[in-house]
Amino acid sequence: MSSFTCKCGAMVRETEERPNTSGILLSLTSLAALEEQMARSVVAYLSTPEDQREAWLRVHFGPEYPKDLAADEVANDIISQSVNAANFSSSFRCPKCGRLAVAPAPERESWSFFAPE
Ligand SMILES: [Zn+2]
Repeated sequence: MSSFTCKCGAMVRETEERPNTSGILLSLTSLAALEEQMARSVVAYLSTPEDQREAWLRVHFGPEYPKDLAADEVANDIISQSVNAANFSSSFRCPKCGRLAVAPAPERESWSFFAPE
C-alpha cells in the first residue's frame, strides 16, 4: 500500500502511516491452516540435514537467497512466506474517521468501508 484514500477523503501515505492502522483479517479456519503450514515448513527446514539446507533454501526461496542467515532469520522468512500465501483479507483503519476498510481475500483489490456506530 503506497497510499490509502478513505471514503471520508483522508489520504494516508505508507511512509506517514500511524502504527496499528494496517492489518489482516483471517478466518479461524484459515488461521488453523496457516498455523499447520508454518509448523510443517519450519519442521521441514529444521529436519533437513545441515549439509542439505542450502539446497532446501534454493528450492523454497530461489537461487538468490542469502546463504549466511541465522536459523531464526530463516524461520522468520519461512513464516513470512506462509503468511503472504495465506487467504487473508487486508484491513486499514482510517486515523481520521475511524472507518475500517476491508479488501476481501483472495483478490484484495477493492475496499469496502465500515463506519463505527
Ligand atoms: Zn476516514
